[in-house]
Amino acid sequence: MQTTLDTIVAFEGKGLHTGAFASVVVRPAPADHGIVFRRTDVTDHADVSALWSNVIVSPLNTRIENAAGTKVSTIEHIMAALAGCGIHNALIEVSGPEVPILDGSAAEFVEGFMRAGVRTMSAPLRVIEVLKPVTVTVGGATATLTPADTLHIEFEIDFADRAIGHQEKHLNMSNGAFVRELCDSRTFCRSSDVDAMRAQGLALGGTLENAVVVDGAEVLSPGGLRHRDEAVRHKMLDALGDLYTAGAPILGRYTGQKAGHAVTNALLRALFDDPDAWGWAVADAATAARLPGAGIRWSDLPAVA
Ligand SMILES: [Zn+2]
Repeated sequence: MQTTLDTIVAFEGKGLHTGAFASVVVRPAPADHGIVFRRTDVTDHADVSALWSNVIVSPLNTRIENAAGTKVSTIEHIMAALAGCGIHNALIEVSGPEVPILDGSAAEFVEGFMRAGVRTMSAPLRVIEVLKPVTVTVGGATATLTPADTLHIEFEIDFADRAIGHQEKHLNMSNGAFVRELCDSRTFCRSSDVDAMRAQGLALGGTLENAVVVDGAEVLSPGGLRHRDEAVRHKMLDALGDLYTAGAPILGRYTGQKAGHAVTNALLRALFDDPDAWGWAVADAATAARLPGAGIRWSDLPAVA
């Protein structure tokens, strides 16, 4: 069955890239509504559906835009929290152009959604089945979807900075794995990239408190890392959020090598471009029990939230 939130939940803070302060109110929504963002500072055409076809490709974040040009930036972490908590319908009001970065992870969103509660509705849930392998390669990055009976995320990264280096991790996203293993992992960057991003008008809201900044073997953010492999865990968090722009939970195995937002979006476009590669299915009880968000408990939530 489809779900929504039991009650309203609010967040506020600065955007990572614009530096603009915004408040976010996430409201319950009816069945088959999906995840929709609404800019409350825009009078006309304020709604933007969180769908792959509305995603504007950007290497640093996931931005969506409707036909009238209304945009919402950096949706990936709140999308990961919605996917990871198994919330299928929500209206997300944002008072500015970018979703707040909070601590750089999805932990506060997850904590808010768990506190608000998740309500089961009477409408059946449709899921997207991957029927055959689909791969995209962009530059040196690759992402693949292959058939599976639940969502698996597998990721590999390789950075010259020794504080990150080579990391790989694989998780079956069932049984609260996202909340337990991924939701507190923060966005990261190299200190050498900060000046370049600022010169392009990006990362204006970035601080050592809302991103893990590394320089060679050194972690500059106070308190260091939350996990030795926090970087690859964050890439998996991003992948879950970006995959949720499919419009429904995916049954498939996602494999990313050095991939990012643009590659995952290209993968979804390739999947939906090939009618033989995917299909809709109504989730039976066994399938629903394996989806991310089924059976999460308060004890799964990491201490930082
Ligand atoms: Zn991210």
